[in-house]
Amino acid sequence: MVFGDVHDLLLAAHGPQRWWPAESRFEIIAGALLVQRTTWRSAEKALAALQGRRMLDPVTLAAARAADIESCIRVAGFYRSKAARLKKLSQFVVDCGGTDALADEGTDRLRERLLRLDGIGAETADAILLYAFARPVLVIDAYLRRFAQRLAGVGAAIADDEIAAWILAEIDSVPKLNELHALVVAHGKSHCRKQPRCDDCGVRALCRSARP
Ligand code: SF4
Repeated sequence: MVFGDVHDLLLAAHGPQRWWPAESRFEIIAGALLVQRTTWRSAEKALAALQGRRMLDPVTLAAARAADIESCIRVAGFYRSKAARLKKLSQFVVDCGGTDALADEGTDRLRERLLRLDGIGAETADAILLYAFARPVLVIDAYLRRFAQRLAGVGAAIADDEIAAWILAEIDSVPKLNELHALVVAHGKSHCRKQPRCDDCGVRALCRSARP
């Protein structure tokens, strides 16, 4: 199957998603952490609360009291651990010389450094690399795993590195990877859900699991 065609069909079905809505690299970084285990709407409210108190920058957050961060991000859930992690992540950015200095680092090294931070797993690190630093990486999340497994028509889960090899062989530009992740999330919410809605799925012609 040609994954480039899947991208194009998703785009035709859902339209441009225009991710990631943010005004700065740091806002994307903070948002990638805050959106863990919650909706984007909740993460957005937490970001707005930080912005409203003029705390949405790494220097301020690194020096802020945990209780002040917690009161802003409570809406995003897991607010105690997220506040602690946001503070550490901010300190990391400050120690590195800011987001512009981080932007000069190679992709592999930057990914390694992000993964060493508390609460930053592969999905969050790759979202930061793609959306904050425009690196050509694939963000693999639960939506993509389920979608790829169904497209391939295999019963067992496909390993992440197989999904990456499959997709990156055909899609390796930042704009397309950016759009693909957002489209797969949109599709996973609207059609390729736990109980799939195959009837009017825009990619059913390419899917080996399409239900009659
Ligand atoms: S046809 Fe069904 S299983 Fe296949 S991608 Fe569409 S919604 Fe998912």
